[in-house]
Amino acid sequence: MELWYTEKQTENYGITAKIKRSLATEETPYQKLDMLETEEFGNMLTLDGMVMTTERDEFVYHEMVAHVPLFTHPHPKHVLVVGGGDGGVIREVVKHPEVEKVTLVEIDGSVIEHSKKFLPTIASAFDDPKVEVIVGDGFMHIAESREAYDVIMVDSTEPVGPAVKLFEKGFYEGLSRALKEDGLFIAQTDNPWFKADLIRQVYSDVKEIFPITRLYTANVPTYPSGLWTFTMGSKKHDPLEVNEARFHDIETKYYTKALHKAAFVLPKFVEDLTK
Ligand code: SAM
Repeated sequence: MELWYTEKQTENYGITAKIKRSLATEETPYQKLDMLETEEFGNMLTLDGMVMTTERDEFVYHEMVAHVPLFTHPHPKHVLVVGGGDGGVIREVVKHPEVEKVTLVEIDGSVIEHSKKFLPTIASAFDDPKVEVIVGDGFMHIAESREAYDVIMVDSTEPVGPAVKLFEKGFYEGLSRALKEDGLFIAQTDNPWFKADLIRQVYSDVKEIFPITRLYTANVPTYPSGLWTFTMGSKKHDPLEVNEARFHDIETKYYTKALHKAAFVLPKFVEDLTK
């Protein structure tokens, strides 16, 4: 019998992948966690029926979450990742020699444990000496932080369960307080095909708080519609005006110096969400 996993985005559309077997399933205090072995994408982590990451295409999302802000900020010493319990973003962050410390605040310890066990190539940086792991609520951590970080990356689930608060204007105000005077943040902001209202709202909220607000995209085949957006709020540094000398060689599979700027060139229907 064939087994197929489907993430329903609407009543009429979903993305689907053929499954070899289930590796783990758990009702954590925060969400339903499933680790699945797929035919095409290797092991795949889902939370509450939504794909979080897969071994085959994870590099796109993790590189674009980490390298775009880290090459935009001229001296990113202290970095915070909110969510990100699979470890993919911190793996990319520690590739930057100028980063001295990266703090990861993930609400669900089970995500970290299952990722270490079933996604070892993604969860490979947890033991790096630059990495500090806090199992706790990222919203509370932000509310209690003052001018602490150069760069913050919000690698959260979609706005359901514990992540709802991470898409509210009060959270972006908190990010502004938690960032140093020339700090910047990026947050994953879902897809423009089915979540246009969310992107429009986040962009307009961030624009009211940060002098520089930008939207960029990447192609992630296992996320609904394949086209994913990231919103950046910055106090001073503009990702489109990065000094050429800022770019240094780094091992990547998706991110390039040219793509750093190209990712901000938006299709018209996506650009319209920023107006
Ligand atoms: N790349 C994925 C995507 O876009 O679908 C998301 C990655 S997944 C590792 C996101 C993580 O955010 C989950 O492990 C979840 O537990 C965590 N998370 C959700 N709400 C949170 C909160 N309030 N504080 C900290 N982590 C949170």
